[in-house]
Amino acid sequence: MSILEIKNLNLSFHSQDKDYQALYNVNLSLEKGEMLALVGESGCGKTITAMSVLRLLPPNAKITSGEIIYKNNNLLTISPKNMTKIRGKEIALVPQDPMTSLNPLYTIGSQLTEIIETHQNLRGEEALKKAREVLEQVKIPNAKERLKAYPHEFSGGMRQRVIIAMAIACNSEIIIADEPTTALDVTVQAQIMELLKDIQKEYQTSFLFISHDFGLVYEAADKAAVMYAGHIVEKSTSKELFYNPKHPYTKALIKALPNFNTTKLDSIEGQPPSVKDNFKGCPFEPRCKERMDICSEIRPQLIKINDSYVSCHLWN
Ligand code: SF4
Repeated sequence: MSILEIKNLNLSFHSQDKDYQALYNVNLSLEKGEMLALVGESGCGKTITAMSVLRLLPPNAKITSGEIIYKNNNLLTISPKNMTKIRGKEIALVPQDPMTSLNPLYTIGSQLTEIIETHQNLRGEEALKKAREVLEQVKIPNAKERLKAYPHEFSGGMRQRVIIAMAIACNSEIIIADEPTTALDVTVQAQIMELLKDIQKEYQTSFLFISHDFGLVYEAADKAAVMYAGHIVEKSTSKELFYNPKHPYTKALIKALPNFNTTKLDSIEGQPPSVKDNFKGCPFEPRCKERMDICSEIRPQLIKINDSYVSCHLWN
């Protein structure tokens, strides 16, 4: 049984007296101990989908229909008090910029022990010991001394490790990692991804991993869903998506990856539509090299092809 299920999620933004739909019937399921990636260009709806799970939406965003089921509870209808208990403890967030989650005025030790005292029922020395242990688990050297340091005394990669340590300290069941390595250089990026994979294996933690980088998704994720203009356009195992992509957008994303055999980089022509754009047919139609007459008229539905799902008229 899935640990998290997003069912028919629809979301709109309200702006200047109008509602603009940003998510269209998003369906995803995350299994225990699995890493599910959401991949796509900036603004395609990946982050807003993840923030819907945490119920951390901007004031002008409104979920118009759908369910988010976690342990038999619909997270969209439980009380704010119960949601606060789940958020941060059972479902943790590793953001792109760790400074948005760390308080610059407090030491890493005081921030970690506060979380441990709140969620683990440990106090004083015991909480401090646990804080040191989790810092060691995320491979921060000299953990005892580093507990006394402030966030600005850590590098970007080390700050990201601290955030991951907070999730371990809470025994989080699900970690939402929102572009966790985007701000880091390539070597540190690889180390952080390795750490996330280690945690997935050791604690059977489930990950919702958000990325615009198909190469990373291929390396790290078990399953992946490709998003475009608020729609899931294809989902499957990450290996199947990479080696046997079906949707023209997935194919274009893979073609745009850097390749050792050529210095030429492919790009996807045009821009993704804005949330304010109206489209009757396929949202990818203006950029699609395989478009047909039907594509601008009728929006394709997500259909099952073997173990994959794809929404494209080429497959109907
Ligand atoms: Fe391209 Fe048509 Fe498929 Fe959309 S439905 S991706 S426009 S072929």
